[in-house]
Amino acid sequence: MPADLVEAPESTLPYPPIHTDKKFVVLSDWDGTITSYDSNDWMTDNLGFGKEKRRGGNLDVLAGRSTFRDSFREMLESVSANGHTFEECKELLKKNIKLDPGFRQFYEWCKAHDIPVVIVSSGMAPLIRAVLSSLIGQEAAEEIEIIANDVVVHPSGKWDIQYRHPSSGFGHDKSQAILPYRGLPNPPTLFFFGDGVSDISAAKYADVLFVKTKADGENDLAAYCQREGIRHVLFSDFKDALLVVGSVVSGEKSVENVVGGAKRE
Ligand SMILES: [Mg+2]
Repeated sequence: MPADLVEAPESTLPYPPIHTDKKFVVLSDWDGTITSYDSNDWMTDNLGFGKEKRRGGNLDVLAGRSTFRDSFREMLESVSANGHTFEECKELLKKNIKLDPGFRQFYEWCKAHDIPVVIVSSGMAPLIRAVLSSLIGQEAAEEIEIIANDVVVHPSGKWDIQYRHPSSGFGHDKSQAILPYRGLPNPPTLFFFGDGVSDISAAKYADVLFVKTKADGENDLAAYCQREGIRHVLFSDFKDALLVVGSVVSGEKSVENVVGGAKRE
């Protein structure tokens, strides 16, 4: 672990302070995990170069043939290059992206149990806030912490993703949102939720990794964890996940009980 901290990529964007006094912290990917469909995939499939090329890029990242940073930038560039402004994308996503059916209840439960929920995303923060506020209301959208990438909108109307960690092949190295907790005198139990190639940088570092499985078969994080022997808990929506998180928080089950069985790398 010290090696990870020494090699931490420089961040171009600020981090919120970590939660130093909690017993449990939830960190979750946004796209395709809290939402039922990935908003960047939606833009690329419908407004950019299309699903076939986008899936090819995802699979190249999974196979190590390209970096997430470069592949994801190409996806988004194809949307901007087709003349779609950032504001237009925001409005389309607000209409088309839906929340996981169990997330609102999961979030309220965490709040009632003093468990922070932090979104850790490779998407662009203004799009996440816009979609979140249209789905769960402005107040909740403002109180949820978001650690994400950002956007640069040019006077011409073209826009580019601004990566948090431009020197990292991940663009946003999600392990950097987890590792500071490890240095605390009484570190919390960390639950991380993800679904795709953007979560590869975080997969090894949580106490309990939840991997979402989806009917569309785009289960890249599950494939990665199987290949790398990373222990994880599969879930299909946050209602399932709440049962598992609840059993650990109540003490009915230990972390080992819920992730045991699969081998650690
Ligand atoms: Mg995702």
